[in-house]
Amino acid sequence: MELRLYDTLSREKRTFVPLDANNVRMYVCGPTVYDFAHIGNARPVIVFDVLFRLLRHLYGEAHVKYVRNITDVDDKINDRAARDFPGLPLNEAIRKVTEQTGKQFHADVDALGCLRPTVEPRATEHIGEMREIIERLVAGGFAYVAEDHVLFSPQAMNAANSVLPRYGALSNRSLDEMIAGARVDVAPYKKDSTDFVLWKPSKPGEPSWPSPAGIKAEGRPGWHIECSAMAWKHLGEHFDIHGGGIDLVFPHHENEVAQTCCAFHRERMANTWMHNGFLQVEGEKMSKSLGNFITIHELLADWPGEVLRLNMLKTQYRSPIDWTVKSLEESAKTLDDWYRVAADVAATEPAASVIEPLLDDLNTPQVIAALHGLRGDAAALSGSLRLLGFLTESAAQWEGRKQQVSGVDATEVERLIAERTAARSRKDFRESDRIRDLLAAMGVAIKDSKEGTTWEIAR
Ligand code: AMP
Ligand code: ZN
Repeated sequence: MELRLYDTLSREKRTFVPLDANNVRMYVCGPTVYDFAHIGNARPVIVFDVLFRLLRHLYGEAHVKYVRNITDVDDKINDRAARDFPGLPLNEAIRKVTEQTGKQFHADVDALGCLRPTVEPRATEHIGEMREIIERLVAGGFAYVAEDHVLFSPQAMNAANSVLPRYGALSNRSLDEMIAGARVDVAPYKKDSTDFVLWKPSKPGEPSWPSPAGIKAEGRPGWHIECSAMAWKHLGEHFDIHGGGIDLVFPHHENEVAQTCCAFHRERMANTWMHNGFLQVEGEKMSKSLGNFITIHELLADWPGEVLRLNMLKTQYRSPIDWTVKSLEESAKTLDDWYRVAADVAATEPAASVIEPLLDDLNTPQVIAALHGLRGDAAALSGSLRLLGFLTESAAQWEGRKQQVSGVDATEVERLIAERTAARSRKDFRESDRIRDLLAAMGVAIKDSKEGTTWEIAR
């Protein structure tokens, strides 16, 4: 069985052949840490976690290296820091913002059942690598210095007669059309409208580092160079898979390819480019102004993380996904059932019926259909669900968590049940019925048996 993945660059599904099966390497663009991550941000995290797990299954845990960066230098971070900590020096305020937001991001994606990547590099710890790539680009004639900025020239790249890919190939755009369609108000230091920033001067008080290319003033990196530098440091000049959301194809990934290939005289940066489709909420684009902007953190207050995870995987990763409460309710029911059937069962190897659609460009809707088909084989269902990052709890923990999540205070329920048991033993049935009705009103169903009284959330 071979793994087939859709590659954005060649625009086709291709058989995946790693450069080195002992060291399969994947880079995914991570969050800019300035605020709570929203449920759209969770999509690439979950999708590439499933791919990471599949690669580990195929090549062995020790032979897969997954790098997902943290962008901790950005205007949005600076703005948030100045707003939230007006009394602190900006650099200290920035550290507070990135630390808090980074922790929150980890808490969120851990709860979604995602493994931590092998390495999570921070942009601010790779300024040296960024400077080095920039020096190479300037020396190679692909970049130039103007007014303390360093700019990359896509036109110089496409004029070079060499192994380099064509600028625009990844996003399927022509440079001529980009030039023709350029805005008129191009920054004065750019020679051409399509040139993009590798390095720029810092304003007073902003984070700054010694500049490359002989620039005296201190400065800071542009966004695209960060990922070229971190991928290079941790995965090398050429690696297997690069991923992110579809919005990153242009300009971010197009520019990453340009920087890396020109700096190292390479034909390719990654062999496979993978992009997840966008998530919208109840049929509308998610945005703060529409009031339908939901954070992972908020959703986790209402739903177990595994419900969010399953709900995300119901749609194949390249299709747009419509995030609805109705679909979440169905996902919750499905997981309740799987937990009852498979959570406390010794797992066998994942079923072939589950692996096969996974190998077909992560066809997770088909995977879920196969899981439903495994209901009669609890051991294989258990093994398959575990491979996919589900069943991280026992059936009892799952029930307990559902009770917490649905807002019922378990201690209070237990206290009322004890009171009712006492009422029953003194034959005060009016009181015991009153308590039962009270529990029902709280959404709690009780069941009496010889062993005592058990309870669950009434659905
Ligand atoms: P950002 O912090 O905006 O750079 O986004 C981090 C990651 O989330 C990137 O891979 C984006 O492509 C992805 N992303 C952002 N919004 C959405 C969305 N609504 N649906 C799917 N992916 C998204
Ligand atoms: Zn990136």
